[in-house]
Amino acid sequence: MMLKVVKYGDPILSQEGSSVTEFDGKLADLVENMFLTMRDEGGVGLAAPQVGESLKLFVMDCTGGKDPARRLTFINPQIVETKDIQVGEEGCLSFPGIYFEVERPRIVTVSAFDIHGKEFTAQFENFEARCILHETDHIYGKVFIEYLSPLKRDLVKRKIKKRIKLGDWE
Ligand SMILES: [Zn+2]
Repeated sequence: MMLKVVKYGDPILSQEGSSVTEFDGKLADLVENMFLTMRDEGGVGLAAPQVGESLKLFVMDCTGGKDPARRLTFINPQIVETKDIQVGEEGCLSFPGIYFEVERPRIVTVSAFDIHGKEFTAQFENFEARCILHETDHIYGKVFIEYLSPLKRDLVKRKIKKRIKLGDWE
């Protein structure tokens, strides 16, 4: 089932999600629907608050479905360590049509639970590391425009207000 992706302006995007405590069929359905929705929207990562569920959970697939081994679910994730720096363009399904460069660590070690409640720790690099950091921000109520300078952030917010007025932000 496709889920509705909430756009910037919805208060759920600025709230910290609750930890997942039940690794049940309901959670498996949510994760499956999040993968379907992410694929349909052409995204590489999707966090639960973006589909209206205030939970510490996100899904990621930076291969666009080409490598099932890189189709990953992170539940109650914690960033253990970061290394190096990378600068690259980012977008967000909650900010359609808005892209800009963000500086982030290049290597990230994260520990999380999988869909069966099994804990894992793994290291990711480059684009996957960027995605994990972007999605982890979401589950703590942080969105990527917070990395912009106040001046640029205001410009983006003004652009969004205009689009809301035009009915182009739903
Ligand atoms: Zn996002």
